[in-house]
Amino acid sequence: MKNTIKITELCPKVPFEEWNKQYPLVDNEYVWIYPLIRDAYFDHTKLLSNNKLPIINFETSVYIHVPACLFHCPMCFFYHEILSSKDELSWYADSLIKEIELYSNSDFYKNISLKTIYFGGGTATLLSPKAIGKIINTLIAKTNTPNFPEITVEGHPLTVNSDYLKELKEVGVNRVSFGIQSFNDSNLKLLGLKQTSEANIKVLTNCAKVGFDSVAIDLLYRIPNQNLNDLNIQLEKAFDLGVKSISTYSLGLSPRQEKLVKFQPSEEIDKEMFYFINSKMQDKGWTHVAQPDYAAPGFEHQELLVSWKAPQGQNLSLGAGAFSVFNNNVYCNVHSLKEYKRVTDNNCLPIFAGQQMDLEDCISRYPVLGTRCFRISNKPFLDVYGFNLLDKYKTVIEKLINQGLIELDNQDIIITKEGKYYIDNISKSFYSEKNICHLQPWGGTVAGAVAEKYYSPSTKSYIP
Ligand code: SF4
Repeated sequence: MKNTIKITELCPKVPFEEWNKQYPLVDNEYVWIYPLIRDAYFDHTKLLSNNKLPIINFETSVYIHVPACLFHCPMCFFYHEILSSKDELSWYADSLIKEIELYSNSDFYKNISLKTIYFGGGTATLLSPKAIGKIINTLIAKTNTPNFPEITVEGHPLTVNSDYLKELKEVGVNRVSFGIQSFNDSNLKLLGLKQTSEANIKVLTNCAKVGFDSVAIDLLYRIPNQNLNDLNIQLEKAFDLGVKSISTYSLGLSPRQEKLVKFQPSEEIDKEMFYFINSKMQDKGWTHVAQPDYAAPGFEHQELLVSWKAPQGQNLSLGAGAFSVFNNNVYCNVHSLKEYKRVTDNNCLPIFAGQQMDLEDCISRYPVLGTRCFRISNKPFLDVYGFNLLDKYKTVIEKLINQGLIELDNQDIIITKEGKYYIDNISKSFYSEKNICHLQPWGGTVAGAVAEKYYSPSTKSYIP
């Protein structure tokens, strides 16, 4: 059945009081994409053509989404389908290559410069290294990419061995990232995660053995019953194992984990943990690249800088359930793996919904996402739009300065130490009128939704 779910469920509109958390309340809505998808019908014919709105930055991060896992982690809110083995996904690389080819013949694609490629999920390590290599080569071939990009593969610790890692390196992958979450077995068990501390240590040791310099991990804090001492142990362990980049997430429990809520450290301790991490990283000489990512010098995750740092570049995301902001369009692909295969087999773009951005979307994207990287430069904005960022957002800026969340350095906006904890409050205060009250997209709610029709750029026709 077609369109059984209304698009309004992807970035639903909610009452202002529900959407707007005012400082000193912390807004925990993770602002990761902007503008928000508001329309059900996407005009595919305009996706790759010239549009009148300015493109500030042609640097591009490509995200390859693999929405499949071998395990289910109870706190996970990402859309993913559970498979029984890697073999079930052996067709996926060919579909991804078909999707890349639908883009790569356009003039717009030939102008982009690939800065980063990120294989994420789900579990991207369900793809074979050979398939990953083929995708990388296809992606780069027709672009204007002078330097070899940062290429990351994100995986689950239980899905790889040292041979796999060695092969990944051979096909050009130069960064790996693992959802370690904790090195404490009690914490892992409490959260219902399949990996053990031993498996986590082993995968990171193997990374070092095969010669990966750039190794990143996800680490959870505010785990039930956790204290600062345990958090310190987790961070030290990561440093000892040679990790160069850590994404730190304050644990959000799912409704299925309701019983654990009362054991979770309070909001006050959450804030203490946040600043504990912050100062520990600083002492270590690491940079807070973007909230929630820290890195050793020289290992700053470029994908976040392209996607979030103002002026933001292009974000081309491929695969089932992927979200893109590309050529001043924001859109998402159909989520179901089966539907994704059907559509790409028919040489059509698997786009499910989205819209062309308007001028206010483009302007506000600059500070909304720029906030995550702590400095929003005025000059590139002024050069492109012909007016001053500080004038455009005068009232918002004055309010944030009075709250101690931002300050000005010449004409640039700087997020203060206090503001770093309120990053989503600050981001949302720059939303344009049309985006206000819309929630960030999380795929699960539209898992079964399909588009009315799909567009084939090669034949310039539609299929149902
Ligand atoms: S491996 Fe990652 S995407 Fe898959 S269920 Fe666990 S947390 Fe979610």
